[in-house]
Amino acid sequence: MSTKKIDIYPKEECGVVAVYKQKQAANLVYLGLHALQHRGQESAGIISTDGNHLFRFANMGKVSEVFSENKLRQLQGDVAIGHNRYSTTGSSFLRNAQPIRMESKFGSIALAHNGNLTNSWKLRLELEKEGSIFQTTVDTEVIVHLLARSKETTFKAALIEALTKIKGAFSLLALTKDALYAVRDVNGFRPLVLGKKAGGWVIASETCALDIVDAKYEREVKPGELIIIEDNELKSFFPFEKCKESLCIFEYIYFSRPDSTIFSRPVYDVRLKLGATLSKEFPVEADLVMPVPDSSTVSALGYSTESGIPFHIGLIRSHYIGRTFIEPDQKIRDFGAKLKYNAIEAVVKNKRVIVVDDSIMRGTTQRKIVKMLRSCGAKEIHVRISSPPTLYPCYYGIDIPTKSELIASTHTLEEIKKYLRVDSIAYLSIEGMSEACGGGHNYCMACFDGNYPVPLDSDSADSYSNQKTLFEEYEVEEN
Ligand code: SF4
Repeated sequence: MSTKKIDIYPKEECGVVAVYKQKQAANLVYLGLHALQHRGQESAGIISTDGNHLFRFANMGKVSEVFSENKLRQLQGDVAIGHNRYSTTGSSFLRNAQPIRMESKFGSIALAHNGNLTNSWKLRLELEKEGSIFQTTVDTEVIVHLLARSKETTFKAALIEALTKIKGAFSLLALTKDALYAVRDVNGFRPLVLGKKAGGWVIASETCALDIVDAKYEREVKPGELIIIEDNELKSFFPFEKCKESLCIFEYIYFSRPDSTIFSRPVYDVRLKLGATLSKEFPVEADLVMPVPDSSTVSALGYSTESGIPFHIGLIRSHYIGRTFIEPDQKIRDFGAKLKYNAIEAVVKNKRVIVVDDSIMRGTTQRKIVKMLRSCGAKEIHVRISSPPTLYPCYYGIDIPTKSELIASTHTLEEIKKYLRVDSIAYLSIEGMSEACGGGHNYCMACFDGNYPVPLDSDSADSYSNQKTLFEEYEVEEN
């Protein structure tokens, strides 16, 4: 038996949730993590506090696999934070599962981090030289060591000092026995929202985690903001040097759930506009518009509404695939893609179809989807991508393949068309994407235009090239 990589879509790094002053806080965090499962499926963890102790449980797997009723009961107290992990730095091991707990001169501390630090490798080497011993391979542990070595006398001051030294993307939650902290990096790469729930607060990566626990959306945690909730009082600080915002535009295109509001805009509305703009920029005569589910469904609807061409579901996606799957002895062609998608012949037979997808990374999955549609009798296939060509990797917490693996980086549009075997292909323009996302906002678009708002530390660049690529799933195949 052997394994092979199959092409999939980009992976988000993590989702975080915090609940303050609610009965059974851990249960609510559990529900919030469940709503954020799309942001990471490798491990899940919760740390709670009853004001005296910090209780922790984390394990590998999805939220519903990790926690039992018994485990949740043991996570006592009315304040808790939780984390779903998909690793972009650090391997996929239990010891890398978050939240991280540490004992320090400030007492017990828990940290949960979404994002990716661009100077963590350099800081780690410096800290190791000075005697620090690292227990994990996650970049978040650098923050732990910076906190432990701080000469400051309060946790707040030590946290600000540590966060001033790190660079890159972080939406971070910290928990002590007395207080909850939430902080977003000055660029604001990753989303973080604040909600209110009867006498307490909920903070999460996306608003879908507020909805599931009936918390009311209040506002975003702002880029560069530090929120401290202590003694039932919420205080806001802006202790870091300001810079231009660089909100991750890919959150709108692909990562965030369409029922979430992030960066103060409903993801659903933005995706509809992405699809509508794509239709205006690249119209084509066809019988139907269909999405590659699920992340492209809303943009396909936008394309259909704008063009007047009927919307149909021509592909069904299975949600029940694990990381490995046993292939029958008799080899099935394109087994990996068929596990995930199946085309509906009754929809596409003898039809000219427009297939809307949100992005293309390596292109191998799209090629298999096109093959499936052809074998079901599609007459013409026109691919429309609701984002510009993905040309560069991401250093801020999204697992995008390297430049040499990205098909748009190494092939012309005509070559991609030939490779996918489609009748036409077009990508949304950068201007169209920006306009659909509200235009005025300051977005990071580095994976499309190569303009990285925070440069990758040169030492860290080496660590990236040596890093195990986790943009992969494994499919079992015959020897
Ligand atoms: S490089 Fe792309 S995926 Fe990464 S933060 Fe910027 S827009 Fe988002």
